[in-house]
Amino acid sequence: MAARRVVIVGGGTAGWMTAAALARLLPGRCAIHLIESEAIGIVGVGEATLPQIRAFNERLGIDEADFMARTRATFKLGIEFNDWGAIGDSYIHPFGTFGPGTGEIDFHQFWLRLSQQGIAVPPLERFSMACTIARMNRFALPSRDQRQLTSSFGYAYQFDATLFGPYLRGVAEAMGARRTEGRIVAVHRDGESGDIASVQLESGERIEGDLFVDCSGFVSLLLGKALEEPFQDWSKWLPADRAVAMPCRTEGAVTPYTSAIAMSAGWRWRIPLQHRTGNGYVYSSAFLSDEDAAAALTDAVEGEPIAAPRMLRFLAGRRERSWVHNCVGVGLASGFLEPLESTSIYLIQAAITALIELFPERDISPIDRNEFNRLVDLEYDRIRDFLILHYHATTRTDSDFWNYVRTMPIPDSLAEKMELFRRRGRVVKYREGVFLDASWIAVYLGQGIIPVGHDLRADAPSPESLVAGMRKLISDVGALAASMEDHAAYLRRYCPMAEAA
Ligand SMILES: Cc1cc2nc3c(=O)[nH]c(=O)nc-3n(C[C@H](O)[C@H](O)[C@H](O)COP(=O)(O)OP(=O)(O)OC[C@H]3O[C@@H](n4cnc5c(N)ncnc54)[C@H](O)[C@@H]3O)c2cc1C
Repeated sequence: MAARRVVIVGGGTAGWMTAAALARLLPGRCAIHLIESEAIGIVGVGEATLPQIRAFNERLGIDEADFMARTRATFKLGIEFNDWGAIGDSYIHPFGTFGPGTGEIDFHQFWLRLSQQGIAVPPLERFSMACTIARMNRFALPSRDQRQLTSSFGYAYQFDATLFGPYLRGVAEAMGARRTEGRIVAVHRDGESGDIASVQLESGERIEGDLFVDCSGFVSLLLGKALEEPFQDWSKWLPADRAVAMPCRTEGAVTPYTSAIAMSAGWRWRIPLQHRTGNGYVYSSAFLSDEDAAAALTDAVEGEPIAAPRMLRFLAGRRERSWVHNCVGVGLASGFLEPLESTSIYLIQAAITALIELFPERDISPIDRNEFNRLVDLEYDRIRDFLILHYHATTRTDSDFWNYVRTMPIPDSLAEKMELFRRRGRVVKYREGVFLDASWIAVYLGQGIIPVGHDLRADAPSPESLVAGMRKLISDVGALAASMEDHAAYLRRYCPMAEAA
């Protein structure tokens, strides 16, 4: 069987990202047919992203300023976490490194060594370009010259989730992707192989395909319902299962970062876009009622609300396998991890990248399918551990929710990582994938996990030379950040929002 007719079920962010990427990157290899139901609609949240999205857009030939204008986007240098380790704490998980690369030894090892020797050192955040620019509400594109300090940060976008899909639809349709509007009411399988043969619309029309991409959202129409792939429920570690969202007018600075503010039964997001600020409270229904969550969010938002609170339900976890038979689940159809680290769109991108790399030329090989599932599982599992870390490493005792997450048993994989860091500040190294060293370092330290030792190689330089080098670095980082333009002014010049996107 030649996988030539690709049927994409769903026209949310996952569906249109898949359609645009397949159309653009495998031209002539497949005929793409996307089915979506306007009556069902899309989940319509998902405003904050990770820097990897830039590579995705670049590969699709998307012009950044045009894309940002049309999705009313702002720049994102990281995530600010308030009240997580303890009430009153604030740290930033930056997109970029702390200090310049120093070859084999991570910069934070020198910082740890000095503080362990009783030498006063400024917070690690002060050595990060991304954190410093973010705290000053400035922005400039990073340098491409690796020797420059201004190359040591990255950035992502905060955009209107309802405009991203339509933007990509334009890209996909321009490359020949076909779209059918309609509700799928039945899924037909081949009696012999068990593969999906066709999907049937309410109108009676049947759409056949060789490869089906399930982008149907939480309902998981093909992977979950038709193929009955089991769901691994991770809610014992990530108990948040609801969100209430409510956008408001922007008050104050358009920050080049997302804020995640811990609340009594979860946390609240604040995401500034060009035309409004997105807000939402992600919480656990075991610890808070919907009414109390909506009231707490309404009390907390800073600007005038521009829509009524909207409730969303979800469950943390993933399907056991994302590619089963001739069906690949992408997006919410394959799993969901709450939006604390803005990882869903990244997971969509990772799945699409793996699918393109392993795209079947003729028959679908079980070897390729297994490799796809291995790659996707790895991403999910790592992100799961990273998210649990934020909740578990806390000293908060002020609510039943925090008492639960602080004392719950955690996966062994995370317990080992935390112990490794606690002993000598070591971070488990990944060759590829999301959340490299600086991300883990920021969250470990930000959540109050302070190592007792350090990498012994960091003992080589004299303390005087280290202190002098650090002073200069802070001064350089501060001066460079201060020389940058105000974030809002930068947006007005670079990518002013289109009135009707
Ligand atoms: C509270 C919350 C906050 C989030 N925040 C972020 C964030 O900051 N960053 C981030 O990266 N992600 C975030 N996400 C996740 C993000 O919203 C999703 O990953 C993203 O929108 C992709 O959704 P999707 O395309 O998989 O599903 P959906 O948007 O639900 O799309 C499903 C599609 O399938 C179609 N469909 C379903 N059933 C049928 C049928 N029977 N017939 C025909 N069509 C059908 C629908 O019409 C729709 O087109 C958040 C999610 C939630 C719940």
